[in-house]
Amino acid sequence: MKVKPNDLHKIIKYPSQLDISFTEQCNQDCDYCWADKSAKTRLDYNAIKKAIDIFCGLPLREKTVTFTTNEPLLDAALYKKTVNYLLSKRNPDNSIRIITTTNGILLTKPVRDFIVERLNDNFWLNISLDGLRQSHDAHRKLRGKPGISAFDISWKHFSRLPRDKVRVISTITPSEIGSFRQNMDFILDSGFRNLDVFAQMYTLWSEPDLAALERGLRYLVARFNKNPEERNNLRLLNRLWGDTHYAKVLFGSDAKFYLFEWVLAIPYLRRRKFIIGDILSGIDFDKRIALFDELFYSASKYNSPMPCKGCEYNTFCSYPLPLFLWCTYQKRDFSRYFMNFCSIAKIFIRFSLEVAPPVKNESDSIKLNKYLNATAKRAC
Ligand code: SF4
Repeated sequence: MKVKPNDLHKIIKYPSQLDISFTEQCNQDCDYCWADKSAKTRLDYNAIKKAIDIFCGLPLREKTVTFTTNEPLLDAALYKKTVNYLLSKRNPDNSIRIITTTNGILLTKPVRDFIVERLNDNFWLNISLDGLRQSHDAHRKLRGKPGISAFDISWKHFSRLPRDKVRVISTITPSEIGSFRQNMDFILDSGFRNLDVFAQMYTLWSEPDLAALERGLRYLVARFNKNPEERNNLRLLNRLWGDTHYAKVLFGSDAKFYLFEWVLAIPYLRRRKFIIGDILSGIDFDKRIALFDELFYSASKYNSPMPCKGCEYNTFCSYPLPLFLWCTYQKRDFSRYFMNFCSIAKIFIRFSLEVAPPVKNESDSIKLNKYLNATAKRAC
């Protein structure tokens, strides 16, 4: 694999990405969501400020703060205060990129204006949009409101966004892969130009599903490559590939720092072993490295010998620790899900290399690793 446990202590002394989870509750109940959502806790502003201070104090110049995984706009006032505080912490020694990901249900005019006014290269808005109403609503259900279309509400808000300034995150699933082309055409014909295609890994894809996925990606890449103005904005490799999980730290809704956001897959009361700090003691970097080591060794026992050795896609791929964690706590067969991941990874990586110019937007994790390596050398 690209990152070996023995390298970890050199590479990940400090996390470069802070994921803030205001709450684990959500206004949608998506059947493909991997998060457990059993915590009833909510962050308050003072705790968030302290966590940001700790993170901003790390000796890395380039940092990212994200509001993802759970819906960040449930408390718009808290979200805005937090963003303003983060913006106030930017200085030449602290370049902070802020990324918000929303399902759009609460992206009403006041908060939309607040976000849109701030959008730039260091302030991104990601919107979750799976395509046309039928595919979007197939998995995305409004919590407590059966019969109401999540698509209709989200789209009312999404359609008022400046298309060139936001990124669409589109999750694709076996059940909707037959409509992939129509869904992608809908998104692109609506004017959105920044697109992340995200395959659902927490479900098993059959051979016909994978063949349909291949056909779909072939079409999508050809469409992007045919239209130069659309180039560079398709991202087929995302947070499940690459080693981005090694860069992360989660500030959970209970005001504790956790290893990374993927611990949200674990029921709240069983998550404690992944706590690596709090706002009083800060982050325990040694524990962070030890936990990554332990997780990697536990996971790799399932894949012996390691199928990735010698794989031509090794540079772009990474061992799916998040999937291992989910399988462990959901009592799923990791070997099976690993092979499923591997099949999908090969398809995605192959097509990502065909996006013109190749891998320009696929290299986040690679850049991240180079950056982390350089940082670690300076820090050690
Ligand atoms: S594509 Fe499969 S074999 Fe290759 S590195 Fe990824 S998981 Fe390993």
